[in-house]
Amino acid sequence: MKILVIGAGPAGLIFASQMKQAQPAWDISVAEKNTQEEVLGWGVVLPGRPPRHPANPLSYLEQPELLNPQFLEEFKLVHHDQPNLMSTGVTLCGVGRQVLVQALRAKCVAAGITVSYETPLASVAQLEAEYDLVVVSNGINHKSLELPPALAAQVEFGKNKYIWYGTTQLFDQMNLVFRENSNGVFAGHAYKYSDTMSTFIVECSEETYAKAELEFRSERDAAAYIAKTFAPELGEHRLVSQPGQGWRNFMTLSREVASDGKFVLIGDALQSGHFSIGHGTTMAVVVAQLLVKTLSAEAGTAAALASFNARALPLVQLFKEHADASRLWFETVSERVGLGNAELTASFDARRNHLPPLQDALMASLGYALGR
Ligand SMILES: Cc1cc2nc3c(=O)[nH]c(=O)nc-3n(C[C@H](O)[C@H](O)[C@H](O)COP(=O)(O)OP(=O)(O)OC[C@H]3O[C@@H](n4cnc5c(N)ncnc54)[C@H](O)[C@@H]3O)c2cc1C
Repeated sequence: MKILVIGAGPAGLIFASQMKQAQPAWDISVAEKNTQEEVLGWGVVLPGRPPRHPANPLSYLEQPELLNPQFLEEFKLVHHDQPNLMSTGVTLCGVGRQVLVQALRAKCVAAGITVSYETPLASVAQLEAEYDLVVVSNGINHKSLELPPALAAQVEFGKNKYIWYGTTQLFDQMNLVFRENSNGVFAGHAYKYSDTMSTFIVECSEETYAKAELEFRSERDAAAYIAKTFAPELGEHRLVSQPGQGWRNFMTLSREVASDGKFVLIGDALQSGHFSIGHGTTMAVVVAQLLVKTLSAEAGTAAALASFNARALPLVQLFKEHADASRLWFETVSERVGLGNAELTASFDARRNHLPPLQDALMASLGYALGR
């Protein structure tokens, strides 16, 4: 079996390394569009302490401690300048995207998988001619690759503007901070992901973004304005954005089916979801593991992909519902800004309660996928 994985992010890399482990004789290669050094984003939060949690990609590394993960047990919501501290319920693991992706790539290479960078675009016909299976894990970059028409992407943009900053201020808890000024409400999501850096994601309504003239400010001036807004949290620490990764509307990418012919989608390429539920990478791991399992368990690729479609689609649909509910809560937060801290915390906690629990669905899928 000759497999090409397109996109060297968590989804493609977990799939490639786990598939190789399950089927050592298969010829698996990974093609990445960017250079080896280019990895987007600062830190992400993952479930559990490796190696104990199979949805945490660090659990698949020999020495996860080398990535300097930070374990977070508390959640702090700040509103009207008052902190509300509570348990996160489960241990969360903050880690840098850069070190995570590089470690997963090194694992693939050590397993005999070729990972190539700055790969030129290939057509559907070329890919079909050369490979038995093409695993598409190119994230939300749906314009970067030609795919069969059945796999056309559906794209929705959220109403809020957001930006992903890094900072040297260290946040020991998962922080959700609301700060209001004459231009409107800003929400900051912050936690440490190494012993020197934290993620600091900021979002606000388009109206607030326009009133604060963020569109017309330089990256540096906008960062200084936001740092001033969150001065009680940041002190003298600066906010830093990645080149070209400025303010944007969150993009939710969905597909109606997960596979067509020799092509199959995993990770954000199949379904992306708002960062405020912090599950994108977890989903990437679980869906990659589902594909490994179906390819190992079923007789023939067509049967495997049919089984993968049947199992992955309900899971990613539930993920989308949770992510959309959370995104909508943040998009309408100005309606709740008059609430006290306890009421706002209760509303935040309840924002996904009308949905079947995502955690149960993830664990059921993992249970099936890892029973191989
Ligand atoms: C602000 C923000 C915060 C987030 N926080 C969290 C969090 O706390 N926890 C969490 O679990 N998730 C979080 N996520 C989501 C998480 O980053 C994604 O869900 C996850 O990275 C998906 O992995 P992936 O491998 O599918 O895609 P990606 O990580 O996007 O990887 C895709 C790869 O494909 C490459 N590529 C693109 N096009 C091509 C092409 N044509 N050919 C070859 N290669 C290509 C890209 O360069 C990239 O390397 C966050 C996302 C955002 C935007």
